[in-house]
Amino acid sequence: MIIDAHTHVGIWGTKTGKLAFEGSLKLLLKEMKANHVDRALVIANYKKTNFNLSMVDELKLTREAKNLINIGSLDVLHYTEKDLDLLDELLNKKLIGGIKLHLGYQNFYPYEKICHPIYKLCLKHDAPVIFHTGDTLAIPGEPAAKVKYSHPLHVDEVATEFPSLKIIIAHMGNPWLVDCAEVLYKNDNVYADISGLVVEDADLNSAYGTLMKNRIQELYVYSSPRKLLYGTDWPLASMKTYVNFTKSLGIAKRDLDYVFYKNAVELFKL
Ligand SMILES: [Zn+2]
Repeated sequence: MIIDAHTHVGIWGTKTGKLAFEGSLKLLLKEMKANHVDRALVIANYKKTNFNLSMVDELKLTREAKNLINIGSLDVLHYTEKDLDLLDELLNKKLIGGIKLHLGYQNFYPYEKICHPIYKLCLKHDAPVIFHTGDTLAIPGEPAAKVKYSHPLHVDEVATEFPSLKIIIAHMGNPWLVDCAEVLYKNDNVYADISGLVVEDADLNSAYGTLMKNRIQELYVYSSPRKLLYGTDWPLASMKTYVNFTKSLGIAKRDLDYVFYKNAVELFKL
């Protein structure tokens, strides 16, 4: 069984850049089937853009796809009580399985007080919060993305203040995987997804592919493979490449099951 804990119905990258959102969804479902991916988390952006649907539109579009689990989001710098109420309702109805926050894209630290009501909401529903961490792309026409907000070390602050909050560090803080390893090792409530490291059908045997493999190996030896969730960041990464990449990491079979689906099943109560 495979659960992809990090996908998007976006129109970006070489796979979906020329499609409409409906086409992106269709291709996602097709690639899941072709690669024996049983379920996938589809992560909403914090706002509607030319490349991303709003959370509500994404929920409507994916309604029929029962093997997808939606992850909500919100504009942390401008949210209102109404936005929190909507997330509360969606979590209550199990229409979303967690909430993702986009630190570097919005320029806020995860430990800022403005985030606390969101963490309390996640705690109320025992739902994970996912942080985008590490490399943060400069998107044309968007406010300048700043990586200092995306450093995984800041997550330690949240993990200690909210020890029952389930936290997922997306992308393992790439390139700061050693820092992420320590945050995972130290905090029982923190996990990481391995998505977005080898993208656009990358050559796994290239110098870059080897570097990424070595970095993940260093991370899981230091912390544990049981702290990792399989994820791709599709449509940025190829599902086929990512399954092969994950299998090449040298993780023992019984631990690999935790990475491929058991950790996600437990965290998202699937
Ligand atoms: Zn992503």
